[in-house]
Amino acid sequence: MGVKPLKRRPTPETTGKFVDCAAIDIVGLETRAIDSPDKLRDRGFQVVYARSAWEAMQTHAHSTLDVEVGGVMLGTLLRDSSGPYLYVHAIVPALAASQRATSVSFTGETWAAIHDAIDRDHPGAMIAGWYHTHPGFGVFLSDMDEFIQRSFFDLPHHAATVIDPTTGDCGTFVWRANKLTRESHLIDGAPTEEGFRAAIARLPKSRGPIGRAMDAIAQLDRKRLFALVALLCVGFSVFFYAMMVLLDGK
Ligand SMILES: [Zn+2]
Repeated sequence: MGVKPLKRRPTPETTGKFVDCAAIDIVGLETRAIDSPDKLRDRGFQVVYARSAWEAMQTHAHSTLDVEVGGVMLGTLLRDSSGPYLYVHAIVPALAASQRATSVSFTGETWAAIHDAIDRDHPGAMIAGWYHTHPGFGVFLSDMDEFIQRSFFDLPHHAATVIDPTTGDCGTFVWRANKLTRESHLIDGAPTEEGFRAAIARLPKSRGPIGRAMDAIAQLDRKRLFALVALLCVGFSVFFYAMMVLLDGK
């Protein structure tokens, strides 16, 4: 009481660091073309996911709708004729919120587990950023997410990916003039049969109102279905009777 709350979100003044992907040095970067047939490459810096990393991330993100989950992305800086890009080639699933209302966080233990996993499965790999889910509340970066980004992922190429598994929406955020900006990303390579099937299996979650109504009808037992059909028949009869009375009146 009476104590001024501490400002949780660091500003550029407090960290003293201005982060911008424009600062990426392209000298010495390996040149490699991207195979992304359905989407064009933007000019300048962009995030490109290897198909296998993308599918692994989606599988993890859709593994639960109950709590936030996430992990770190591993990648490398490359270039093509449009400029530098961050190539995300693998993920390390490492984060899970303890309960519904809490968000994912990076503790000392989390980092120890991440570095163990990198040493074991991807020795020498570079951390490219992190990803996490927002089940049911949309794609954006919260104040806490920005705090995490500024604390642990403040290099010019570091990215943040947010996925809402209830809608399938997925956003990639990069540092532009010290602000985290949502930008279009690319996926390199054709979908695997497994990934394609998994994507199809996830579709019902993102169906529109008609799809959800059909699902609800499919859930009804016989009695209720009969009552619904009877109600619709009565409704139509009343409608047609009213139309006939109206037309007769003319
Ligand atoms: Zn978040």
